[in-house]
Amino acid sequence: MNFSNIIGNEEIKIFLDNLIKTNNVVHSYMFIGPDGIGKVLFAKEFAKMILCQDSNKACNHCSSCIKFNSDNHPDFMIINSEDGKSIKINQIRFLQERISEKPIVSSKKVYIINNSDLMTVEAQNCLLKTLEEPPEYAIIILVLSNENKCLSTIKSRCTKIAFQKLRNSDLTQYANENNLEINSSLLSASDGSISKLLNLQNNLEAYKQLDNIINAFSKDNIVDIWNNADILYKSKDNINTLLEYLNTVFLERLKSTKESKYIQSIKIIENTKNKLSSNANYDMCIDNLLLQIWEDFNENYNRG
Ligand SMILES: [Zn+2]
Repeated sequence: MNFSNIIGNEEIKIFLDNLIKTNNVVHSYMFIGPDGIGKVLFAKEFAKMILCQDSNKACNHCSSCIKFNSDNHPDFMIINSEDGKSIKINQIRFLQERISEKPIVSSKKVYIINNSDLMTVEAQNCLLKTLEEPPEYAIIILVLSNENKCLSTIKSRCTKIAFQKLRNSDLTQYANENNLEINSSLLSASDGSISKLLNLQNNLEAYKQLDNIINAFSKDNIVDIWNNADILYKSKDNINTLLEYLNTVFLERLKSTKESKYIQSIKIIENTKNKLSSNANYDMCIDNLLLQIWEDFNENYNRG
């Protein structure tokens, strides 16, 4: 089957495959779902199937598939934000100029607008004209995570396809196939997203040190905890990511043990995040964070 190179969202694979087989592809789609789960990969594979000249869709052998695979297909385009912040009206006008020219290689043309929730209102209104009266050969796929940022007039013109977070088994499979490190903390912190999993891999040493700090809370005295927490004191620029990771690990332990000290720890971390965002003294915030969590761990530990 097609999409075999993409992990997860199996129902959508079957659905899109079926649209092609039954010749039911319409002019505009919205692929909606969390970031980092492969929506653009799905959109590209779908485009390749639509454009393929062979009856075995996305055959990888016809001139359309060959051009597609070499990023050189005249009937296909992906629009991305140029500054990472917005997609502007001139980009949509450019799309409209191109889409008005008849296809060259295939019988259709496919345009993907990635992160289309970044389109300005002007850009959306401009795109609306094309969605209302698309050329008969044109297919537009809007890929996005936040549909609230899209005008209702845009939404009503598109067939919506909702993607789900990846399952832990999917992420584990991906990690194993790509020789990435994986364990229960990393799975929780990835939250069903391959891009989050990949980001975590860049900082594995830091997360291991955080695991060590967490494990030390119920064994070591507070002075040793402070002395072995360099990773927190030296990560001012990255502290929110590290605190998020601590939160995820505590939440996971709360779920498996139901011990209340983990609730307290999560509250303490949230408090610290607030203090840091209001520019409190950095080292003192970390001192307090560790002390308070340590107190909670040892109070409950002694009572237990
Ligand atoms: Zn082909």
